[in-house]
Amino acid sequence: MHAVVKRYRQPGARIEDVERPVAGKGEVLVETLMSSICGTDVHIWDWNHWAQKRVKSLPIIFGHELCGRVVDVGEGVKSVKEGNIVSAETHIVDGTCYQCRTDRMHICKNLKILGVDTDGVFAEYVLLPERNARKVPAGVKPHLGSLLEPLGNATFTVMPNDCVSDVKGKNVVVTGGGPIGLMAVAILKAVGARQVIMSELASEKVRSALGYKMGADMVLDAGMGTEALVETVKDATDGNGADVCLEMSGAAVALKQCFDMLTPGGRISILGLYNDTVTLDVNNAITFKSATVFGITGRRMFQTWDQMYLLLKKPAFREKIASIISHSIPIRDIEEGMRLIRTKEAAKVSLRPEW
Ligand code: NAD
Ligand code: ZN
Repeated sequence: MHAVVKRYRQPGARIEDVERPVAGKGEVLVETLMSSICGTDVHIWDWNHWAQKRVKSLPIIFGHELCGRVVDVGEGVKSVKEGNIVSAETHIVDGTCYQCRTDRMHICKNLKILGVDTDGVFAEYVLLPERNARKVPAGVKPHLGSLLEPLGNATFTVMPNDCVSDVKGKNVVVTGGGPIGLMAVAILKAVGARQVIMSELASEKVRSALGYKMGADMVLDAGMGTEALVETVKDATDGNGADVCLEMSGAAVALKQCFDMLTPGGRISILGLYNDTVTLDVNNAITFKSATVFGITGRRMFQTWDQMYLLLKKPAFREKIASIISHSIPIRDIEEGMRLIRTKEAAKVSLRPEW
């Protein structure tokens, strides 16, 4: 089969002819119908500092955002069968450790990530452990199906307690209008947040415009400076500040802004990943504000998926999320896809299995 293989510890990757995997016990073989590119894939392609430290063993087929068709199942597989259309939960867990046994599988002690620690989805076929193959709901076409993993990140960031009351009727700020921040805006509007304010660099015109398309009440220029941002949010919230802030940019300055604009007793979810260690005035940012801070990694398995599937029942919501895909290209042009994401020219790039 064709696959995008990272063979050497240097930038780039190549399309190669490799052996098609065979479904073993508890495994599912999935034919890729659509995949999409995540920032992580660009890091692996570019072989940046993070990738050099994180990717343990080469060669690897990378990519983890997928929609595909089950073509074979191994011994003992019960929950999916040949012909099912699935997406992938990318956290591969042991199912036996302390966290797994106590309903926190997404932070398994022996966590492996699809396409980082194991062969991923930029291939004609991919093997998934049974529990990682999630049947997609009716009405979800492959291009949208390949976005369910990041959509799950967004859903978990919005509702860390798995319930709509986390945000319903609340003033919410989302810092960062990347694909996941944009998804969060759409989710917030769908579950009844009172007001949604997104911040994004004004230079990112595609993403700022998509913020309004997702339903943001206001899209602020992140470059206006902390004081002006905090003032604008206070003005929009009767002087109170935000009830909830979702940090989805990975910019340290935005994280600090979240704490500054949060109303006392408010909640922050942090999804963004920072290049360097961040310093914070904990007394004023968290303690005296009695703030709740959630660290978000992956998706709850599988409460977040259930939440997301409820949202996906609405055609208008499905259309909104699919519209974040700014480019759909053949996978043979994956290098161009990487460039589109690296330069932020694209919001989301999906890859058709045209080799
Ligand atoms: P992205 O990098 O495409 O989006 C980040 C956006 O933030 C960009 O559009 C950028 O222009 C914008 N931005 C930069 N500086 C800003 C600032 N000061 N204020 C507001 N916006 C600013 O990333 P994404 O794919 O949407 O992911 C969002 C973040 O979540 C990234 O940091 C990513 O690494 C992280 N992430 C975490 C997990 C997890 O499990 N914790 C999973 C996926 C992604
Ligand atoms: Zn575990």
